[in-house]
Formats: sequence, structure tokens, C-alpha cells
Amino acid sequence: MSHDTAVARETVLGIDIGGTKMAAALVSADGTILTGDRIPTPSGGADEVFAALGGLIDRVRGDASPLAVGIGSAGPLDQQHGLVSPVNIPGWRNFPLGDRVRALSGDVPVALGLDGHCFALGEFWSGAGRGAHTLLGIVVSTGVGGGLVVDGKPLLGQSGNAAHIGHVVIDQAGEACACGSYGCVEAYASGPRMVARAQRSGWRTGEDVDAEVLAADAAAGDEFALAAFDDGAQALAAGIVATAVTVDLTTVVIGGGVAKAGPVLFDPVQAWVKRLAQLPFVTDLTVVPAQLDNAGLLGAAHQAWATLR
Ligand SMILES: [Zn+2]
Repeated sequence: MSHDTAVARETVLGIDIGGTKMAAALVSADGTILTGDRIPTPSGGADEVFAALGGLIDRVRGDASPLAVGIGSAGPLDQQHGLVSPVNIPGWRNFPLGDRVRALSGDVPVALGLDGHCFALGEFWSGAGRGAHTLLGIVVSTGVGGGLVVDGKPLLGQSGNAAHIGHVVIDQAGEACACGSYGCVEAYASGPRMVARAQRSGWRTGEDVDAEVLAADAAAGDEFALAAFDDGAQALAAGIVATAVTVDLTTVVIGGGVAKAGPVLFDPVQAWVKRLAQLPFVTDLTVVPAQLDNAGLLGAAHQAWATLR
């Protein structure tokens, strides 16, 4: 006699919502993805975007009955009321994602968190941050986001928006940031900002290029590209060290599209962290690349399991 373990096994549904793709998966208590799928995030109105997500959820769930649902979403969000307003999904403004997903899910518990928190939690659960005591996860892409796991538990903050590492101010007289402030980490370390800085200094001026091209040129030794990565790395390191001395970090995991640049980003980040982290309790801080390509999805599932404990 045999049973279909994918159906019989206890699972939760993890959902990862981003501006370019939406993913969903059934995940067991040990972090195994039993089945999953992803779709491009449609443009369009609120209901159009949600209909696409609903179809994805139906396909992934099949005949299974997940015990809870965890959602990681691009921010900002209002965790208390289950509302999301992802910057890159203009159709959703104060969209009641929590309630809408709950209505599709037979009233099981639904947990909603920031994508950056889910990234940190996923890497903490089964990636580069496994076993870490206190971890900062950073996602470097078109923006800079993140999440904290402190004393082994996710740190959410009163509104669910803790760990906005991209908006730690490292130079109050510095560059204007999209958030309205000045000298934020993101104003130096996001992919588009590094590209813009390099172009202002004479690198590929007037060309339509992105951070991937910048990384390739840096790896080939282009001095302007290397300088832009060093500026970004310095900003990241300053934000990392500010966080490290605040919450007594042991581990930093960096992922996201720009982090795929590898040593041209990690070498200067590690060098700047070493230089700036001087108090004895942060001198052993480790900064490592992310290991998972679905950390956000796993972190969302981890949130779902946490609602059942
Ligand atoms: Zn900012």
C-alpha cells in the first residue's frame, strides 16, 4: 500500500509577490518545496493582478489542504490591516491582500510580511544564514531591502517594516534618496544608482546599460565601474556596521540581482566592514553571499508555519 505523500504530507502555502514575478509553493515543515510555480506579475488593475495570483494559487495547491498561508510582498505594507502597496505594482495601493488570500484559503491562518524579511528568514532557515544567532539579510537590486532575525526570531517592528537597511542614513549631507531623505544606503548601493554614478564619472555615458553590464566591466578591471562598486560597497558596509552595533549581529547575508556580481561587490564590502567594525563584539561579523534562489518563498512559508506553533 502506498500513499501520495505530496497530498498526505502536512504543508503550508508560501507566496512571494514581486514587481516582476509572483511565485507560490507547497512547503513542508522541514522546508522542502513539494511543488511550486511562478508567473510574471501582470500589469493592470487591482482585480486583474489578483486574478492572476488566484490562478497560480489554485494550480499550486491542487488537491492539497495547506494548514496556513504565508505571503512575502514587496513593500511598503500595513501588516496590522493586511494591506500592501508594492512600489512596482501600481495596481495595488492599500490592497487588502491578506483578506483576499484568506477568502481563497478556507479561513486558515494567513501571515503577511515584507519580501526583505522573508528573504532573511529563508536564508536563516535553510540557506547561508543557517544556525546564525542574529542575522541581517540584504537584497541589493533596483532598491536595497532587508530583514533581521534577532536572537533566532524575526524582528518585525510595530508596523512590520523593520530593517529598511536601504534607508539607513550614512551621510546626512549626501545624495537625495527616493524616500525623501538624504544619504541613504540605497542612494549609493542600488543597481541603478551605481550605474548612474559610474556614468557621471565617464563610464559608458549615454548608453542604456544596467548593473549587470557594470559588474562585467568592473570584473574586467574598468576603473570607473570598480569605483562605483566601491562607493556602493562602502555605503552597504556603513549600513551593515550601524546595524551590527545596534542589534549585535553575527551574520550578514547579501542576495538580489546586484549581489550576483560576486567578488566585485563582496570584496570591497568585506574590506569596508573590516575597517569600520571596531567594537570587539562586531569584529567577527561575517558577510556572505545568499545561497538560495527562492529564499523569499521559503521565508514566506516559514512565517506560515510560525502561525501554527
Ligand atoms: Zn532613503
